[in-house]
Amino acid sequence: MKTADYIKLEEQYGAHNYHPLDVVIERGEGVWVYDVEGNKYLDCLSAYSAVNQGHVHPRVLKALVEQAGKVTLTSRAFRNDQLPFFYKELSEFTGYEMSLPMNSGAEAVETALKLARKWAYQVKKVPKYKAEIITAEGNFHGRTISTISFSTEPLYKDDFGPFTPGFITVPYGDAAAIEKAITPNTAAVFIEPIQGEAGVIIPPAGYLKKVRDLCTRNNVLFIADEIQTGLCRTGKVFACQHEDVRADIVTIGKALAGGFYPVSAVLADAPILSLFVPGEHGSTFGGNPLAAAVARESIKVLKDEKLAQRAEEMGAYFMDQLSEVNSPHIKQIRGKGLLIGVELQPASGGARRFCEALEKKGILAKETHQHVIRFAPPLVIDRETIDWAMPIIREVLTMQ
Ligand SMILES: *Cc1c(COP(=O)(O)O)cnc(C)c1O
Repeated sequence: MKTADYIKLEEQYGAHNYHPLDVVIERGEGVWVYDVEGNKYLDCLSAYSAVNQGHVHPRVLKALVEQAGKVTLTSRAFRNDQLPFFYKELSEFTGYEMSLPMNSGAEAVETALKLARKWAYQVKKVPKYKAEIITAEGNFHGRTISTISFSTEPLYKDDFGPFTPGFITVPYGDAAAIEKAITPNTAAVFIEPIQGEAGVIIPPAGYLKKVRDLCTRNNVLFIADEIQTGLCRTGKVFACQHEDVRADIVTIGKALAGGFYPVSAVLADAPILSLFVPGEHGSTFGGNPLAAAVARESIKVLKDEKLAQRAEEMGAYFMDQLSEVNSPHIKQIRGKGLLIGVELQPASGGARRFCEALEKKGILAKETHQHVIRFAPPLVIDRETIDWAMPIIREVLTMQ
């Protein structure tokens, strides 16, 4: 079968809720993926930062196979021998006392929102069902009804109402707007430290610190969605750490299982996360032994291979090289660590055609929103590979 045959099959039998590049991948290793026709590509998306450790990391593969041969799912009706160590190792890695495991990122977000509401009623004593959560314009927190309820992207929400109430949305990067929006009923401020899907939008310096201070002063929880920015992507375990900020609740997912398995989690200290009591929240697959074993090894790889430091060094090198590209198409290059966005001029015809041109030359990147190309390769990338990619990127970014 050729590429076109796979695509035809997929388009006939699958829902058309994505518009992928026309490359059919059959194998991956480290920063490279291979298509069904034997072509090799540098992966500059990393499955939206879910494969920070690189494709099919041998250590995580081994953990997966070993655990898959023992037991994969017990449900939380019983205990399993992996989950306790997952909790402990995740706590040691992140500095949060406790965690709650789910599967997808959107589920972790839903869990964090429920937790914040419960905290508002039980601890802050907000009148029943009056809790408000402040969110930011341009946000991306997943695809559930509640998360799209506070999206500002018409495509994500227009045909999907009615929406979940209780959310207030203010401009991103504007701490004064948050201050103005806080009321006695505010449970939480919920933001991404860098908005990945919005086009790698980095807030003004000092923003996260100001939000932290506002939350502390007003007895409001600060929830950081680090599903994309966390787990070393930006050069630190969490992007909030660039401003020495510690959120009260953090959502993580994506790279938590190195791309092998959907594993997400909500992190918080005991006074907050202990508010959940048996039966209030759960998931059939959340915290299963296979997920826990895979996530444990994925975390160890982040640590042992010093991937935060690597993201910082390689990100700085990549950004340097990109900023030397002289092209009339480039409006701005921005990034932290290996989360880099190249914003193109509105007149350049959109980022898609540049991504298609990159694909033809062996680099897979994806447009995010109309005019931004995101470069976010696995964190195991080295200098040599960046040096290989740069002439191609330069050629594509300077095409007509
Ligand atoms: C990807 C992402 C999510 C949603 O994760 P899923 O696993 O796709 O549900 C939520 N928040 C952010 C910031 C993300 O990047």
